[in-house]
Amino acid sequence: MKRMVQKLGFVLIILGFVFWPGPTTADEAIQVVDQALEADFRDHITFTLQAESTAEIVEVNLLYQVVGQLATSRNEAEFTPGASVDAEFKIDQTKPENYMPPGTELQYWWKIVDAAGNELRTEKQTFLYLDNHYDWQTLENERLTLYWYEGDDDFGQQLFDRANVALDTLATDVGIALENPIKIFIYANHNDLLGAISTSAQEWTGGQAFTTYGVVVIGVNPQQLDWGLRATTHEMSHLVIHQATDNPYKGLPRWLDEGIAVYNENTEQLVDDFAPIFDQAVEKNQLMTLRSLASPFPADPYEANLAYGQSGAVVKFIIETYGSKAMSELLAIFAEGALDDEALEKALGVDTDGLDNAFRASLGLPPLPGTASDASVSAETGSTAPEESNGDAVETAEPVENAASAEQAEESQESPSVEAPAQSAPPQPSQEAAESKGNPLGLPCLAGILPLLVLFALNVRRSNI
Ligand SMILES: [Zn+2]
Repeated sequence: MKRMVQKLGFVLIILGFVFWPGPTTADEAIQVVDQALEADFRDHITFTLQAESTAEIVEVNLLYQVVGQLATSRNEAEFTPGASVDAEFKIDQTKPENYMPPGTELQYWWKIVDAAGNELRTEKQTFLYLDNHYDWQTLENERLTLYWYEGDDDFGQQLFDRANVALDTLATDVGIALENPIKIFIYANHNDLLGAISTSAQEWTGGQAFTTYGVVVIGVNPQQLDWGLRATTHEMSHLVIHQATDNPYKGLPRWLDEGIAVYNENTEQLVDDFAPIFDQAVEKNQLMTLRSLASPFPADPYEANLAYGQSGAVVKFIIETYGSKAMSELLAIFAEGALDDEALEKALGVDTDGLDNAFRASLGLPPLPGTASDASVSAETGSTAPEESNGDAVETAEPVENAASAEQAEESQESPSVEAPAQSAPPQPSQEAAESKGNPLGLPCLAGILPLLVLFALNVRRSNI
């Protein structure tokens, strides 16, 4: 495994000694003498136990759960059987399959059995797994904790305040409330960020939202606060959306998930990174079909930007036209695993094409060819290609090859760019960003990653994040 070289002196920090809880009953044969936990981020979490019994101890297991997840991991500790034992279990954090993001909360306990059949389960202990290579500052309230280590108090305060506003907006405009408190980790540069996230992360990753851990990890240089405020809002929105809507059956259409995140960056207007491309596409009647935006977004930078911008505009349209209550209902229906058209019909009274046409009409655009509103024309919908442009715009229109787009979309389903909600262990973090192949316009997610390109230019080998 390729480990990042830590810039700070490699100091093994004892993150927590946990005092033994004592016997559960006075006449318990098995006694815990001592137990402790020691960890180093991205290297190991080691649990140790000293116990004794009137009979030989023959079995020692360490059990743990990630707080908020259902699965329990049961592990045999290393020890030599005897009336008194020193047992140890280590989670090797250098193995990708064992990866846990910073901010993971573990609940753990021991199960000890002796030869006489006595059994002892220790009380559950909680451990907060932090990246001990940095000196974290924190701001917290009941909803979220922000961690950062570079930048002054004002930097942290602004990010914290913005994140709280973003949570308010999600509650008022979109109707989803935070289910569990979240943690946001702000790494100061791209190298530090890469050192903290999974080894499977691509070099261009700008941040990750670990849905089932309730954790957002993101790289924000203090000199790029404006971008950081938006990117943090965007990532955190995904986390909250997924918390509220995850189900075993079906995820949200991509345009809704991304659209809410983009909308939350600036509820008044589309952010500058997307507005010009979106406006141009409206002017030339080259919007993508909403149906095509339900799938992974195109990898092509121009199309990706249009996809994000258009999704944000559609979400704003829904909130302003159908109301926040309808949006809230829509998400509640999706949370049950409903199909796209079914959910839209129930909450808004229109299917995907109907919503698309209403949105288009609000922009002065004709209905989609081949839809009920335009029965005269028979044409397929669901293509990833933009609508055919009007005659006068044909020359300047960027031709999009359906096959290529479809292939890219297919590819990206397999790539880390897909923001798939993590379902179960091993963690599959949702990841922001898609590859742009060096195009400076390529800012697939994080809604405006461009400033980061400049910021991290010295650190990033590829030119996108
Ligand atoms: Zn996103």
